[in-house]
Amino acid sequence: MASTFKYHLKCSSQEAPFDTEEAMKKLKDGNMRYLSGKAKSIGLSAERRAEVAVDQHPFAVILSCSDSRVLPEIIFDQGIGDLFVVRTSGHVAENMAIGSIEYAVEYLGVRLILVLGHKRCGVVDVTIKGGEAPGHIRDVVEAIKPAFEKVKYKQGDLLDNAIRANVKMTVQILSSSKPILAELIEDGMVRVVGGYYDLDTGAVSVIYNPRQSLRGYGVAKWRQGMTILKNIKVYTKIPGTAGILFLILAMVAGFRIWKLGSIG
Ligand SMILES: [Zn+2]
Repeated sequence: MASTFKYHLKCSSQEAPFDTEEAMKKLKDGNMRYLSGKAKSIGLSAERRAEVAVDQHPFAVILSCSDSRVLPEIIFDQGIGDLFVVRTSGHVAENMAIGSIEYAVEYLGVRLILVLGHKRCGVVDVTIKGGEAPGHIRDVVEAIKPAFEKVKYKQGDLLDNAIRANVKMTVQILSSSKPILAELIEDGMVRVVGGYYDLDTGAVSVIYNPRQSLRGYGVAKWRQGMTILKNIKVYTKIPGTAGILFLILAMVAGFRIWKLGSIG
């Protein structure tokens, strides 16, 4: 097995990594605070700085466009040590960006990766207008081009269609990135979703949320259940045979949820 998910090996106790659903809720809640003008900005204090000065436990990776109007910590109302942010123009996921994300996943235990595109993305606009882009901008344009090719005959707003297709493509690139990310996604340890930031309203919407594999879904639900059990310290209260019976019941219930539950 190529990936060892070192976080689990290194971190034996203390802080458990955030679950993907929990992390997604924190982002959504933060964006709601930002939208309603009730941003707390609580994570920017000297106390918070001191708290994370020697150790960090960010709850999500944001791979966003470098656009000056797209500020992950602000639009999600998060502070120091909360988000592991990787930014490239057009959120292009080349090796350095992927390596940075892998670091956050493997060494910091982050489980949710959000690819964040946005309205009126300039570099996507350059791509759809065609022509020869100067210098290394050409590399960025070439990386975005396959997304544009997919929607160039589609009805509607060409730029917006290309932006959304580019988000989807980046999610797919990360999801199939071997050896680390693809494997952890398949195992249900990591999730990648695509978001769209509206420059006018400030709202972030999830525009691409690929289905998890059945195995990944089952593992994620199972782990969620285990986290809940650990949190209520049920193990310390149910000894011996009763504990084993409880565990079997939990497994049966988990399997039923897995079979019945909607996937994705
Ligand atoms: Zn952009």
